[in-house]
Amino acid sequence: MGKIKCHICSYKEKSGAGSGSCASCGTDLTNTQAETIQKFTMGQYIKAKNAFFSSNTNGFLYLTNQRLIFLLASLAKGSKLVFSIPINQIQSVELPKFSVSQLGKLIIVHTDDGASFSLEIPKREEWKTAIESVIS
Ligand SMILES: [Zn+2]
Repeated sequence: MGKIKCHICSYKEKSGAGSGSCASCGTDLTNTQAETIQKFTMGQYIKAKNAFFSSNTNGFLYLTNQRLIFLLASLAKGSKLVFSIPINQIQSVELPKFSVSQLGKLIIVHTDDGASFSLEIPKREEWKTAIESVIS
């Protein structure tokens, strides 16, 4: 049996094994024209545990024409979806004034339901522009 490679996250799945959507990122594999990558980078997702502690997850950030996706990068576990935000739920993108420790890489995505997603990525100004152009 052959393998189907996801056109978004490159996850390889045995053909016929799945439901027609990528087991890793959830994109529709039956219509590879529908969702396309606009921008991609390696980066870190910062999840606040409380006011004092947070955990950083290394992974891959994808902006598609439909979603903002972050996938955990792990050689042992393979790729794993950390979050997938539909474009139409993104309210705004914030570039906070940076502290020395963040090296000017911090970007915060706010969604309509009041959640926020903090990331450290290179070229955050380009990302802000790219996300805003997709959501507008
Ligand atoms: Zn995928």
